[in-house]
Amino acid sequence: EQVELAALTSSVIQTFQGAYDRDIQFSQDGEALTVYGNVDQLKQVIYILIDNAIKYSDSTIHVKVCEKDENILLQVADFGQGISEKDQKRVFDRFYRIDKARSRETGGTGLGLPIAKAIITAHRGNLTVESILGRGTVFTIQLPIS
Ligand code: ATP
Repeated sequence: EQVELAALTSSVIQTFQGAYDRDIQFSQDGEALTVYGNVDQLKQVIYILIDNAIKYSDSTIHVKVCEKDENILLQVADFGQGISEKDQKRVFDRFYRIDKARSRETGGTGLGLPIAKAIITAHRGNLTVESILGRGTVFTIQLPIS
């Protein structure tokens, strides 16, 4: 089915309002762009990325949807603790969690990102990470234009 990503992102953000005992700010940017795919699965991917951004940062989370070279990009950016280059290679591995003691406080199994990656790959897309330790992280979902 046709899935409009900006609207889907808004609905995910809605589900997080008041869900944590913290004041989380979101900013959303970009155009209404549509991809072909499974709405529940794509919603789950956006949910995983935003949930992580909330867990591992403490200021505004930016979500942007744009078009680039025959692809649609959805980026979730945070200004949190960041991920080292070494860990960036492993965060898509099943059960991988950085700094287990710290992560235990926020809960989680280390399955979120592998599931997100599998869903995006099944949609003929790509899920990538860019990050600077101590600065923040950007996860980019890349999907073919429908
Ligand atoms: P869950 O399975 O509930 O999502 P999780 O967050 O531990 O648990 P993943 O989503 O797979 O599992 O993430 C793996 C690890 O990558 C996390 O434990 C965390 O250390 C790191 N990580 C993920 N997103 C971010 C982020 N935005 N900033 C910093 N570290 C992150």
